[in-house]
Amino acid sequence: MGAMASEKVRDATAYLDQAVGFALPGRSARGRLVRLGPLLDDVLSAHDYPAPIARILSEALVLTALLGATLKDAAGQLTLQAQTESGIIDLFVCDYRDGQLRGYVRFDAERLAQEAALPNLFALFGKGYLAITFDQVTSGERYQGIVPLEGNSLAEAAQHYFSQSEQIPSLVRLAVNDTGHIAGGILLQHLPEGEEGRDRIHTRLDHPEWEHVRILAETIRASELVDADLNLEDLLWRLFHEEEEVRVLPGLPLGKGCRCSHEHVRGVLARFGPDERAEMADDEGFISVDCEFCSRVFPIKLDELDG
Ligand SMILES: [Zn+2]
Repeated sequence: MGAMASEKVRDATAYLDQAVGFALPGRSARGRLVRLGPLLDDVLSAHDYPAPIARILSEALVLTALLGATLKDAAGQLTLQAQTESGIIDLFVCDYRDGQLRGYVRFDAERLAQEAALPNLFALFGKGYLAITFDQVTSGERYQGIVPLEGNSLAEAAQHYFSQSEQIPSLVRLAVNDTGHIAGGILLQHLPEGEEGRDRIHTRLDHPEWEHVRILAETIRASELVDADLNLEDLLWRLFHEEEEVRVLPGLPLGKGCRCSHEHVRGVLARFGPDERAEMADDEGFISVDCEFCSRVFPIKLDELDG
């Protein structure tokens, strides 16, 4: 029965690499939906990640896009960075700026190979934390939240953090399809009386309005989050069509973006002493540095760094 659908060829109108924001004014709730496709391949193809690493990075990229789209400042940046202790992963970074995403993982391949097919969060990160940093460029404001990497999934850890530490009742769902080429997610939050969060003194996590929309949003299926043929607005309609008003914000296209440059690499190398630089150089007098995010290689000539 499902054969027809699975044979359907994806066309250019596939609903991928985009975010859409929405609000349910009658329930004081707002949220976002994100679905990533080609962008994931772009980020992942710069590295040869084994499936469990690719999967957790894909989830993190969706989470980064969900949170990044909450930045009020278009020039702002959102960074997710894990602090890990004796896990398989020792470096884990994703960031978002102006619709552009990038991410990078460094891990112990030998230890990963000894693990079960899908290692849990603890195996991946050990006693880990996720630092979420919001940099508002225009105002120079910086805010950082620390999420313990506990529970069964990244989504669960993020949801727990917002609900408990930030006192913003939140729902977070993240999904990656079987092929690993499509990932999606939803973030829904309750912000009564136009509150911005963070400053509130008292919050009811069991507010009836919130209960209502949370239960509706929980009906979302992983297969809907990763269905390239399902318009994000149609998905919102499925979830909330009985609500009085669903305000849908204009969609935001997402892309892979790296901000590495020849100048940046040269600046980093310039901080080393001449002797150290000479040691790093090859026989032709070049130091080759590759960007850990996108694997692009920057050969810098030694005499470029002198003086
Ligand atoms: Zn790069």
